[in-house]
Amino acid sequence: MTALDVPIDVHELTADLSAAGVAGVTISWADNNGIPRSRMVPVGALPRVAEVGVGVTTLFAVFDSSDAITFAHEGMSTPSGDVRLVPVLEGVVQLAGQPALAWAPGRLVTAGGDVWPYDQRTVLERQVDAMAGAGLSALVGYEMEFGVYADGSPDELVPAHQGPAYSPHALVPIDEFVADVLRDFAANGLEIGQLHAEYGPAQMELSLAATDPLTMADSQLLARQTLRAAAHRNGLRLSFAPLPALAAAGNGWHVHSSIWRDGRNLLAGGPEGPGTEGAAYIAGLLRDLPAVAAITAPTIGSMARLRPGFFAGAFAFWGVENREAPLRFVPGSPLLGSDHANIELKTSDASANPYLALAVMLAAGAAGVADGLRLDPPVQSDPGSWDPDERAARGIAPLPATQAEQEAALTGNPRIPAVLGDELLGAFLAVRRSDAAAGERHGADDVLAGLRWRY
Ligand code: GLU
Ligand code: MG
Repeated sequence: MTALDVPIDVHELTADLSAAGVAGVTISWADNNGIPRSRMVPVGALPRVAEVGVGVTTLFAVFDSSDAITFAHEGMSTPSGDVRLVPVLEGVVQLAGQPALAWAPGRLVTAGGDVWPYDQRTVLERQVDAMAGAGLSALVGYEMEFGVYADGSPDELVPAHQGPAYSPHALVPIDEFVADVLRDFAANGLEIGQLHAEYGPAQMELSLAATDPLTMADSQLLARQTLRAAAHRNGLRLSFAPLPALAAAGNGWHVHSSIWRDGRNLLAGGPEGPGTEGAAYIAGLLRDLPAVAAITAPTIGSMARLRPGFFAGAFAFWGVENREAPLRFVPGSPLLGSDHANIELKTSDASANPYLALAVMLAAGAAGVADGLRLDPPVQSDPGSWDPDERAARGIAPLPATQAEQEAALTGNPRIPAVLGDELLGAFLAVRRSDAAAGERHGADDVLAGLRWRY
């Protein structure tokens, strides 16, 4: 194979990393379950690895949430096949919490160095390019909720804080962890918007300041690595799972987005709603929400989290600052400026691949803009508190709540499958079926316990 293009001076980078005490480079990507996977190479190998990658099995495309490999996807029905994992050098960072290691996001290419249709990062790159072709760009930011527990038996959830919700007192027992997170995020080049105790015992939330979509997906993976190292150093254990246990608070990884043309935020408008094209973006998200949710909240744990009344977004509608809406419009204001306007997708969690999640979200919204969709008035109350007839009369349906419903929503959608492409969609669906079959053999508590520490 011919060597891949190496955009930056990798020899200088390697020398700098070595001089800083780095011994190895972890190259990380996320699979179709949102689970980070990786390979590590000695730092001196970085120049060569940047040119040719390291070999990994194609079967990572069909790992399920429990690390079982499904051979049900045509084209991946045998153990044969190899692809190359290539570090994205622009994303290399020495890990503040694991200083002997550098970290890089990875992309997967064919053995010949070409685009591999199962690579999720490529899907997001393609979506960002398609939008650029239409004169559009996006800013996105993740809110990450997670549970902080004592590092003991994995079967026993011992909250490391007891609340009260949002109280500064809640964080006192984990003060050193919080301080490490603040320091390590800054050192790793990740900008925190806010950090606080969330709703339930053990729960915290950290928001990342908005960036371009590829940077944000990479950052979401780096943020997890950074959090886990800080937790380990402090004798704590984190659960990023959408629902760590039936009785626990759900961990949403809400995504905020705004869409821009010629330096103008199309979502900017008044306090009641966005401008015309911003409204079309939201209408596009709403139109495709069942299919989008099948990618952004795709697992058994995701669907367990989407309970009405828990601010997770169980019914398909939009609202202005409505915390129960899966699409919550956040207007600009005289204080924050009109460019602050954005839309929050709540039907999103850590079991989604972040590259795929952002790609389908942006594709749905951009299609709404391209189609000039009109947006119905916002819903400002909780449709979960209405009777079913009223919901039906107002056209508000629950989002898919089973694997079969999600699959139907995805495959029946005229736009979203093409964002992934046939091969990746086929593998993704095979993995979801494998998860569902495994789930049927266990009770809900056991399924959630099995997924608790995996993201
Ligand atoms: N924990 C909620 C969820 O599952 C979100 C709470 C909030 O609005 O911050 O998405
Ligand atoms: Mg929250």
